[in-house]
Amino acid sequence: MVAAAEILEQPAVAAYLLRLIKQEGLLLIERFPAEGEFSDEELAEATKINLNSVRHTLYTLYERRLAEYRRIKNNETGWLTYLWRLRLDNIPVALAEEMETILEKLRTRERFEEENDFYRCGQCGLLLTFNQAMDFDFCCPECASAMAHFDNEILFLALRRRRESMASSLGHG
Ligand SMILES: [Zn+2]
Repeated sequence: MVAAAEILEQPAVAAYLLRLIKQEGLLLIERFPAEGEFSDEELAEATKINLNSVRHTLYTLYERRLAEYRRIKNNETGWLTYLWRLRLDNIPVALAEEMETILEKLRTRERFEEENDFYRCGQCGLLLTFNQAMDFDFCCPECASAMAHFDNEILFLALRRRRESMASSLGHG
């Protein structure tokens, strides 16, 4: 098993996990016993973290294939027990998938900025696309002030730079 402490030292990984499972989830990873597999109740007990929080974290990790379970049936009672272990070795894959998702959002946003002309209210700052502004006769629908063309070139270029640098760090060239 990959050592949790070592993994959490990587800033990109720590930031990703914090977004995904929040501080309490990170605590579970830090305190997760190094060897073996455990039920959610055993984990709550061993880590002193609230059972609901433990379950929530485990399922969130499971969705990203960062945790997995084995189901055991008690032959007398018929009860099922789920025994969990972490799969932190899958972090690079999960992280790359998340980056691809972010990259796709950047692409969409960049296209939107590129394909639209924008109009901005000089009074309240409301920003509309050309078509939206035209619907209101270039009068702000919030405060009725005149709307003027807004140059989004700087924003567009910044988006493009960010998208390109991310794409190249993901090996898209
Ligand atoms: Zn306005």
